[in-house]
Parts: sequence; C-alpha cells; structure tokens
Amino acid sequence: MPTTSEYERLLRDAALRVTRPRVAVLQAVYGHPHADTDSIIGVVRADVGDVSHQAVYDVLRALTAAGLVRRIQPSGSVARYESRVADNHHHLVCRTCATIVDVDCATGETPCLTASDDHGYDIDEAEVVYWGLCPDCAAPPPPDPHDHR
Ligand SMILES: [Zn+2]
Ligand SMILES: [Zn+2]
Repeated sequence: MPTTSEYERLLRDAALRVTRPRVAVLQAVYGHPHADTDSIIGVVRADVGDVSHQAVYDVLRALTAAGLVRRIQPSGSVARYESRVADNHHHLVCRTCATIVDVDCATGETPCLTASDDHGYDIDEAEVVYWGLCPDCAAPPPPDPHDHR
C-alpha cells in the first residue's frame, strides 16, 4: 500500500489538486480492490468523516478520467473501482455471489489487444470478463446444523 505522500504524488502527477477526499478515495480504492461506490463511501467516511455521496462520486469520476483508478462494470453489477490500471488484466466474476477476482492477461504482455481483425482501430484496451461459479458457490451446501426436520 502506498503512503499518504505517495497518493499525493499520484494526484499531482495526474495534474489533480491534492485534497483530503481525493487522497481518502484513492486510498480506499487501493485498499479495497473492486469495491463498489457505496463501500468506498463507507471507507472514506470512516477515514475523513462526513463526505457527501456526491463528493465521492465526483472524486471517483475525476480519478477515473485521470487514469488513476479503473472503473469496471460487469453486466448486472454496479460500477466497481480498482487501482490496477493499464495492465490489461481481466476479471473472473461469480454468477451467484458476484465476487470478482483478478486474472492476469491470458498470454503475457498485452496480446489480447491483438484482435483477429482490428478494422483499422487503434486498440489500447481489451476487457474480458470470465463468468462462472466461485469455489464457494460451486461447492455443495454444507448440512444445516439447525435443520432438525
Ligand atoms: Zn460465488
Ligand atoms: Zn481487477
């Protein structure tokens, strides 16, 4: 985890003014990969006190636009944020509990960016979401100790 001054440097390098909420949101995203906005608001409030929803939304939008955080939104899920940017990693999403985990790019550097036909586009990102069941959800349910029927 970067230190506060490192978060401040990240902000400055991205030409963003350093503010308490921005540092707190950045810190929350680093500490809680794939957290949704509500969880981030909770973490930020625990850190800097009362910050409005709107303020956190605005900071997330600014950080995303500056490339400091990445916004992912698997279909059917709310937007989630993470600090792993620009490494072209992919995500595994559980269909049942919606747990998200990172998976590195399937074949190394950024080869997923080599589309079979790029139609002349200058491609800089490939977003791959693998859907399935996580090990917990795929396992048969444990016998319920409270079920005496
Ligand atoms: Zn699951
Ligand atoms: Zn990720």
